[in-house]
Amino acid sequence: MNGQCMCGAVKFRAEIGDKFAACFCEMCQRWASGMFNGVGTTAFEVTDGEEYLTVFKSSDWANRAFCNKCGSNIYYHMPEHGTPSVALGTLENTDELRNAIRFFVDKRPKGLRLAGEAKELTEAECMAMFGDDE
Ligand SMILES: [Zn+2]
Ligand SMILES: [Zn+2]
Repeated sequence: MNGQCMCGAVKFRAEIGDKFAACFCEMCQRWASGMFNGVGTTAFEVTDGEEYLTVFKSSDWANRAFCNKCGSNIYYHMPEHGTPSVALGTLENTDELRNAIRFFVDKRPKGLRLAGEAKELTEAECMAMFGDDE
């Protein structure tokens, strides 16, 4: 699956599954206007515009990458847990992707709801699952 940022400077190719995760933690809210939707990958490669990709270390365990030309979020990455989760909206086709899990649902902005059933984890449940990770 191919993906790119809004301006097209950064392009990538990724092997993805059929699911995405929504995260409502405070960092994701600030980063991605209320929630971040990440699609897990098993392979990821920037194919164009590596110089436009800024990788920001957002915590001790994770990096967040964005296009430094247009500001689009590209991925969230926990290096100890394999390849990045790419931003849902960067992908060329999202028709087959379903929301399987929601993190930090107790932090969710009141006006923001996702349709359909998915596994929902509160902050406490996320912490139990990831340790101190987000
Ligand atoms: Zn861009
Ligand atoms: Zn988050």
